[in-house]
Amino acid sequence: MELIVEDAEFVTMAADGGPVRAMLIRDGRIASVGPADAVRAAAAPGARVARLDGATVIPGLIDAHCHVCDVGYLAAAADCSQPSAPDISAIQARMREAAGHTPEGSWVTGGGYVEYKLREGRHPTRADLDQAVPNRPAVVYHTSLHACVLNTTALREAGFADQQPDPPGGAFGRDGEGRLNGVLFEGPMFALFERNLRHDLGRMGAAESARVVEAAGQRLAAFGLTAACEADMRRDSFGAFAEADANGRLSQRIYGLVVHDQLDWLLGAELQGRRSGRLAAEAVKIWADGGMSTRTAAIHGSYPVPPYGSGILYFERDVLTEMVRDFDARGFQVCIHAQGDRAIETVLDAYAAVLAGTQGNPRRHRIEHGGAMYQPLAARAAALGIVVASQPGFFSTLGDGFAEAFGDRADELYAFRSWRQAGITVAGSSDAPVITADPRLGIRDAILRRTGDGLVLGPAQRVPARDALELYTTQAAFAMHREGEIGTLAPGKLADFAVLDRNPLRIDPEQITDIRVLATVTGGAPVYQSDSVFPD
Ligand SMILES: [Zn+2]
Repeated sequence: MELIVEDAEFVTMAADGGPVRAMLIRDGRIASVGPADAVRAAAAPGARVARLDGATVIPGLIDAHCHVCDVGYLAAAADCSQPSAPDISAIQARMREAAGHTPEGSWVTGGGYVEYKLREGRHPTRADLDQAVPNRPAVVYHTSLHACVLNTTALREAGFADQQPDPPGGAFGRDGEGRLNGVLFEGPMFALFERNLRHDLGRMGAAESARVVEAAGQRLAAFGLTAACEADMRRDSFGAFAEADANGRLSQRIYGLVVHDQLDWLLGAELQGRRSGRLAAEAVKIWADGGMSTRTAAIHGSYPVPPYGSGILYFERDVLTEMVRDFDARGFQVCIHAQGDRAIETVLDAYAAVLAGTQGNPRRHRIEHGGAMYQPLAARAAALGIVVASQPGFFSTLGDGFAEAFGDRADELYAFRSWRQAGITVAGSSDAPVITADPRLGIRDAILRRTGDGLVLGPAQRVPARDALELYTTQAAFAMHREGEIGTLAPGKLADFAVLDRNPLRIDPEQITDIRVLATVTGGAPVYQSDSVFPD
């Protein structure tokens, strides 16, 4: 079946080519783009025609670092985010409500709070949650997913006791007497989130767990996304994606970054590589340090705000180097979460050691986030050919916290313009559910770099609209080894595209987040339509 798309403005993102007024789709791929008459001439008789009334067609957007399964899982959690839960009593109300419809045997779960945005300016505590949910385990996850709060029953069920010392790679919040106040940071938080997610996915069975990732996919499709790197692929989530894929219900092409401690399972099950046109497991994920918003990113110097300290580094350089060497030798692209300058330095040391004697960076090893990749580090990353997957959308959502934690140096965080000028491939991403997966927010923020309070962080680092859109198309495609298939609208490429009501390159950047996504098409098939843009 052939489809001609015409009467639209095309932003192909291709480096060359003449004016494009129409596009021909055949067998899920783009067969032709160009002037309307040339495209019609290339079509077989009887091809269907979709006239888009002057809408804008862009390549399907790509989120290079998204916790897709978590998005689906948390979509079902009580909404404790701003502005819908402005204070702790609102969080309590949400949790009380959630307790009413959470199945027995699962924890009452909320998500999305940011302590410094709450009216009280602090984390909720176990006592706060005990008031709302007294008799069964309850947890509320911080929006960063680097912290959470448990009620007393949950602390007991998780095996945490007041006398317990802080575990390696993490910390417990404590009250004035040293008792646990219910807040967990980093290590124990990750372990708990993974435990709950695995537990809940496990009780669901294949069909229901597939629905979790399908729900996430529908959310992403509504944002114009046709591909995403799953930044936290594990055995359970892989099963959910594989089931959804087998049922033809993946809305995006999912490129798995498989958590390093899951590789034995992956290799044992012979699942490494490309599983289908929509599911692949070609990369491995390692965490080198903590997060920006919890001030646990490993930095030189120390934070001027709680919890103070210099952040958490999970691996010494030599250990990390051997891990990278091993995964590289087994054919994986390595993607390392590194936020603070001390962590980024360690990661670059590891990459430099492994890539010594190699021409460039053929596996396209990546740094995830790279927040405090200051100028000398960026120069090193550029020389090594390291790809960076980063999150412009953090500016408007978490930027004020960065300003507080980094002071004068906040202007140098996420230095997209300098990074691009240095020659680094910078892939746009959301890190959802840390923030919304909506790439319109990231595109706008890459252009404006404005915080929620209106501060512009590093005005010299703002990028033009076209560069901002490249982050989520051509650059992100390269970051997942797919630039030959997606990222531009060109003959031979997969028919992955989004239809927008306005052209993001031609409007006031302030309005980019108001652009309506009219339709999202993956492999020639609509996965989202706000109106019926494409006839059945
Ligand atoms: Zn992440």
